[in-house]
Amino acid sequence: MIIGVPKEVKDHESRVGVTPAGAKALIEAGHKVLVEHDAGALSAMPDDEYQDAGAEIVGSAYDVWRLADMVVKVKEPVEKEYRHFREGLVLFTYLHLAPIKDLTDALLDKKVTGIAYETVRDRAGALPLLTPMSEVAGRLSVQVGAEYLTKEHGGRGLLLGGVPGVPPANVCIIGGGVVGTNAAKIALGMGAKVTLVDLNLNRLRELDDIFNGRVFTMASNSYNIGRAVSEADLLIGGVLIPGAAAPKIVTRAMVEKMKKGAVVVDVAIDQGGCIETAHPTTHSDPSYEVNGVVHYCVTNMPAAVPNTSTLALTNATFPYVMKLAKLGATAAIQEDNGIAEGVNTYAGVLTYEAVAAAQQRDW
Ligand code: NAD
Repeated sequence: MIIGVPKEVKDHESRVGVTPAGAKALIEAGHKVLVEHDAGALSAMPDDEYQDAGAEIVGSAYDVWRLADMVVKVKEPVEKEYRHFREGLVLFTYLHLAPIKDLTDALLDKKVTGIAYETVRDRAGALPLLTPMSEVAGRLSVQVGAEYLTKEHGGRGLLLGGVPGVPPANVCIIGGGVVGTNAAKIALGMGAKVTLVDLNLNRLRELDDIFNGRVFTMASNSYNIGRAVSEADLLIGGVLIPGAAAPKIVTRAMVEKMKKGAVVVDVAIDQGGCIETAHPTTHSDPSYEVNGVVHYCVTNMPAAVPNTSTLALTNATFPYVMKLAKLGATAAIQEDNGIAEGVNTYAGVLTYEAVAAAQQRDW
């Protein structure tokens, strides 16, 4: 199979769909890999590493898309990429089709097989291609929060871990899933006092065990959240209700009671945010203030650390890329239920119910 790896064109996207290591493994398995010039450059994976792995560097996106049987990307195609769609093409990437009707139409119109990272499931029913980005964002949220707590960034001028004789900062994390757990690990590692809030008591039990009592756990209700938020120096939002917009469980009134110079990092902003005062920001203009509280609400945090993110993402996606290349998309979909769950468009038919529901299409 010919696998095409175009350079990402979405604003501030710096990851790449296949690494030089992935290209090497595909080529060793008898496939051909076409990589657009500089596709990996922003992830610190230069053309010569792909060439050394045996991939062919192609000058234009047009040729990568035109010659490939399967295109492996990171982000959903933007409008100027729709012209590359053609019948029979397999596209393996994050698609997030629900809110993007014109992309859905373009994939259906050109009968592209669109397999979305975000809906592929593993045997346990989990979403294995979302987990690595939540791991990155969770860990990064504390790193970013620590930076915004410095005076220079408008914060309270706090060192997260304190020093002997000066107590550490309070970090409050709402949601104890992948983001929350990874945030807690880093915050603890930096010496902060960490409170984790979740609705799921069994999850809180697990977290209590995982962290051996070093993290304070709290059941999620507005009373507990109000108290924890008012004491927080750094508040991290990591709530998810699968398939739904995040509930605004930290209200504006709670944020107004926070300390001046405290910091909010709402990681759940890509689902609308779980903190009422949060609105989406970008890497070029990442923060703003509400009532003296610094807010950082970047929707694609992993793009800040593209090398780590590309490696983490491709570790998870690569076994699927290999299987799709080996069997061809149709056979791989028939054989692997998890890949079948990933199929959102096939031969001009919309095959993912939640996307149909979100776009009010017939199902
Ligand atoms: P997850 O499913 O692993 O965890 C979500 C947790 O929220 C669960 O433990 C759940 O019990 C808890 N929860 C649900 N309702 C709650 C409530 N009312 N109160 C307290 N806890 C509640 O999800 P995740 O992988 O950790 O992802 C969290 C969010 O981060 C998602 O919206 C995800 O899309 C987002 N995310 C954003 C970025 C970014 O760049 N901004 C990157 C990765 C992930």
